[in-house]
Parts: sequence; structure tokens; C-alpha cells
Amino acid sequence: MNQTIAKPLPNISDFNRPFWEGAKKHEFCLQRCNQCSKVWAPNGPVCPFCFSTDYRWDKLSGRGKIASWVVFHKLYHPGFAADVPYNVAFIEMAEGPRIIANIVGTPNKDLHIGDPVEVTFEDVTADISIPRFRKV
Ligand SMILES: [Zn+2]
Repeated sequence: MNQTIAKPLPNISDFNRPFWEGAKKHEFCLQRCNQCSKVWAPNGPVCPFCFSTDYRWDKLSGRGKIASWVVFHKLYHPGFAADVPYNVAFIEMAEGPRIIANIVGTPNKDLHIGDPVEVTFEDVTADISIPRFRKV
């Protein structure tokens, strides 16, 4: 028997819905403070810089650089069996925040700290598109 096991999907809530709605449109959006103008990730109910609750969701450039990365050799979920070994990277966005994502289109051995990357989106279902990054 050859059964395909799906990868887990994000849990979408009222709190993170703007991020996933943006991703569906292939826009990378994060929260920006209306008081101090800083952008942050992961999302949260208050600005981590000035503690204001006055924020908006902004479309970012989608550009950044590799801050660090690891390669997963161990299988933690059967849905990823075909992907092992795969990378998980810390991306420093041009606007400042660091986010966790995969880098696609480049062999793991050719990833370097500081490499410039840009966002790309994988449409995994009709409703969910997951941001990944590729070297530029
Ligand atoms: Zn702020």
C-alpha cells in the first residue's frame, strides 16, 4: 500500500487571518505599529517595541537575507518524508523582523548566511499559500 500523507496546514484564526489572506494573494504581510512604525514577527496583540495596540497589516517587500539555517535530516512528520533532508531558515526581512521559512530552489550545500532572498509562494490548497524564499 502506498499512501500519501498530507503535510499539516496552518491553523488560521481571527488573529493571524490577515497574514494568510495576504499569502493567498502572494503578498507577504506583517503587523506594523501605527505609533512607532516598526514591523514585527511573529504576530502578537501589541507592538513589542512600544507596547501600542494600534497597528495595521502592511505588505512588505518580500526581500531579505539568510540570517541562519539548519538542515533537518530526521523525519518528524510523515508528510515530509519526500523532503528529507530539508532546510529551515531564519530569514531577516529587509524591514527588520526575522521569520522562519524554507528556502527553495537551491541545494542545501549552497546556502550561506547573508545570501539575499525573496519570497515566493507555494499554493498548497485552494485557500492556503505558504511563503517560502529563494535566493536572488
Ligand atoms: Zn510601536
